[in-house]
Amino acid sequence: MSQAQLKENEQKYVMQTYSRFDLCLDHGQGCKLYDFEGKEYLDLTSGIGVNVLGHAHPALTKALQEQVGTLMHTSNLYYTKPMVEAAEILCLATGMDKAFFCNSGAEANEAMIKAARKYSQMNFGKDRTKILTLKNSFHGRTIATLEATGQDKFHQYFFPYTSGFDYFTINDMEDLKEKVDENTCGVMVELIQGESGVQPLDPKFVKELEKFCHENDLLLLVDEVQTGIGRTGDLFCYQTYGIEPDIVSMAKALGGGVPIGGILANKRTSSALQKGDHGSTYGANPLATTAAKTVLSIVNNRDFLDEVREKGAYFMEKLKSIDSEHIKEVRGIGLMIGIEVEPEHVLDYIQAAQDQGLLVLKAGTNTIRLLPPLIITKEEIDQAAQILKGVLQ
Ligand SMILES: *Cc1c(COP(=O)(O)O)cnc(C)c1O
Repeated sequence: MSQAQLKENEQKYVMQTYSRFDLCLDHGQGCKLYDFEGKEYLDLTSGIGVNVLGHAHPALTKALQEQVGTLMHTSNLYYTKPMVEAAEILCLATGMDKAFFCNSGAEANEAMIKAARKYSQMNFGKDRTKILTLKNSFHGRTIATLEATGQDKFHQYFFPYTSGFDYFTINDMEDLKEKVDENTCGVMVELIQGESGVQPLDPKFVKELEKFCHENDLLLLVDEVQTGIGRTGDLFCYQTYGIEPDIVSMAKALGGGVPIGGILANKRTSSALQKGDHGSTYGANPLATTAAKTVLSIVNNRDFLDEVREKGAYFMEKLKSIDSEHIKEVRGIGLMIGIEVEPEHVLDYIQAAQDQGLLVLKAGTNTIRLLPPLIITKEEIDQAAQILKGVLQ
């Protein structure tokens, strides 16, 4: 099929819920992607933070091929090895008590919200249901996670939403304290707001938030769907911030490209959801948990994580040294980096980079977002920085 035919059929048969770039991808290898004509692109999107091991990683490919030929799916009516092993790796690496697996980030947040509400109801009574989230947060596309998302533009058309969420200003303890009442069960945050512009929370605020939650019996819920699994140079970003959440959600990078999400809960909250309270037909499926187990066997390694940190610092320094009036700020942690530019030109820069063989993401209204595969090399970082310099100057 030609590219023209593919695009025509996409228009004809696929619901038009995405505005796609004019690029038809055929295959990938490492940090490189190739279009139908064989043109090479350096991929700093990793499928929105998913392909942490790049494309066609030999260990992941082999593990998945073997699992496809062994046992792909069983439902949760039976015991299978990969889910238990993936859960064990995650609990041992974090000190969290137990894991639950589902299939996406939004579902992971749904599970986190359900666990938090059940815990609070059992311990404090049935009205304790409210969860505070941050303005400009992003938590997913289901009805409840849309409502959890603190951006008005997501609260249209799909009424009625669920109630039980309120929003406070980033890095503002006073605003948080004002919005807490006797019916508040927890606070849910992204430590680096991803979709809305790569905004790391202030470490001092995060520490105060943790203390306030612990002192007031509020659950601290961290959405690590984008920041988790090595992105910031630790397995989870909450470890980078040095805090102990009650529940964390994860997805994107966890399967390295195979759809999987999940939550990790501490001792306090891990028994809130009991048999029959929650589930998913696909959840913890042997194929998806084999992917997770394999990704974790590579990423959950101090040397690998130190390299992520080092490469992130190296990349950030290169970007900060670009002398351009178009760059307002370069920010981020590890290999989650945002370059703030003029909102009216952000898409032009992204297109110009693509034309020169570099794929990058947008975040918020004014930010070029870089989420490279964690296996990116220094040479590839040099190459990317060179192209971005050309585009932004
Ligand atoms: C991507 C994302 C989600 C939603 O994940 P899906 O897998 O698309 O449902 C939720 N929270 C954060 C922080 C995300 O970046």
